[in-house]
Amino acid sequence: MSDTSKPMDPTRRQFITKAGGAAGAAAIAPGVFLTTPAQAKPADQPVSNDKRWGILVDANKCGNGCNACVTACEEENGWGSANPSEDHSSPEQKAHWIRKVTIKDKATQHVTTLPMMCQHCENPPCVDVCPTGASFKREDGIVLVDKHICIGCRYCMMACPYKARSFIHEDLKDQKPWAPRGKGTVESCTMCVHRVDEDGTPACVEACNAETHKAMVFGDLYDENSEISRELKQYGGKEIRADLNLNTGVRYRGI
Ligand code: SF4
Ligand code: SF4
Repeated sequence: MSDTSKPMDPTRRQFITKAGGAAGAAAIAPGVFLTTPAQAKPADQPVSNDKRWGILVDANKCGNGCNACVTACEEENGWGSANPSEDHSSPEQKAHWIRKVTIKDKATQHVTTLPMMCQHCENPPCVDVCPTGASFKREDGIVLVDKHICIGCRYCMMACPYKARSFIHEDLKDQKPWAPRGKGTVESCTMCVHRVDEDGTPACVEACNAETHKAMVFGDLYDENSEISRELKQYGGKEIRADLNLNTGVRYRGI
């Protein structure tokens, strides 16, 4: 954890002040500018709480050894193996917007693998603890980090029960315009909000379907006719750590 009692570096303070005042074009590293705020729908199309976006993962269909969802996310959002700037990070420090988790049942020896990412909680602890408002939840349930006002305190990383967030340690190059990243800030799965806002599907879900595993379904949890709602109604779906009452937007079957 960073020592927040230290006086703030003046250049960093200047950046934060400027970024807070104008979300237009803030420098986050030499030659790298944030020109778009954390992704949002166009101003003429406000996000509404008529929808609640979610993902249903069927662990029984998730391929053991398959990493297609992770690779697709890396390539879509320019992190991990898709970003050579991160080569120097230790494994513990590497970005992990999405990762594969393997669970072995000691009694039966049955092995389950599943993708783990931000669960887009309805009651997100990351938002509760954020001192700046950088962590926020949209009306449609997608939880994001506004890189312009994140001060890198990492309280949200400690508060997240799913270890869904990571901290950027490197000067980054080759960023995707729709997924701005900055050294000294925290990041996590955006549910590919830039795609969702254009009626698209998150890259992980698309890749899983392309691999014919079809272990992930994306859609509107509030629409009773959506595929995700119909599947949840018919077969059910669990929250990981349901005891925390976070009402996650990501649900699992087969766990
Ligand atoms: S999974 Fe973690 S980062 Fe995502 S909304 Fe919940 S608490 Fe926040
Ligand atoms: S690291 Fe950034 S997003 Fe996380 S709690 Fe601190 S200011 Fe908020």
